[in-house]
Amino acid sequence: MNTTAHNCPGCGRDDLVQAVPAAYLAGRDSVTRRERNSDGDMRTVTRRVTTALAEALAPVPKEPTYGLGGLGLFAGFVSVATFLFWVFAGKAFEEVPDGAYFGEPPSGPDPDLSFLGWVSALALCVSLLVVAVLVRRRGEFARLTRGRHQAEELWSHGWYCHRCGTVHLRDVPHEDVRPLSLQEFREQVWQRGGYGDLAARQRVSD
Ligand SMILES: [Zn+2]
Repeated sequence: MNTTAHNCPGCGRDDLVQAVPAAYLAGRDSVTRRERNSDGDMRTVTRRVTTALAEALAPVPKEPTYGLGGLGLFAGFVSVATFLFWVFAGKAFEEVPDGAYFGEPPSGPDPDLSFLGWVSALALCVSLLVVAVLVRRRGEFARLTRGRHQAEELWSHGWYCHRCGTVHLRDVPHEDVRPLSLQEFREQVWQRGGYGDLAARQRVSD
């Protein structure tokens, strides 16, 4: 499995030792297969599969999820829809001929519809807020992982033993060569990248 034969410091054997980048990439396969869809036709489907091991060996933290974007999109839609309805409904009231009303003809948009303007403005605020939050999160993540190439450098010296489930470092000066748990390896790598505190929060799930 390994290219440069050396023994795992945990079990003393070399047959199941694999370079961390190789183990990581092997666990991030695109699986392509033929599937039958709901109409009964065959089609080719490609899925991205990430194993728990590949996830545990990731040299950088997971990017924050952008699920909030759905809320922003919805708020934007509500804002536009209520605004249009407000404008057109208001026009419709205006265009009613005076004779159709008993008493005073209304001036301008019907006052009962003014709440639509508020709903529209509020929804617009929500969607703008969501955009601002997402842009900030993205920027923060990029800033946080600026040192990722240093982390990847150390990461590339890691060797994973499939028997022990541990990683040991090789050819890294001043680093111990004892077997590290996946969490310890993550802490060392992420520390090197300058985002070590995230390793405590995004722990390797056993
Ligand atoms: Zn081993």
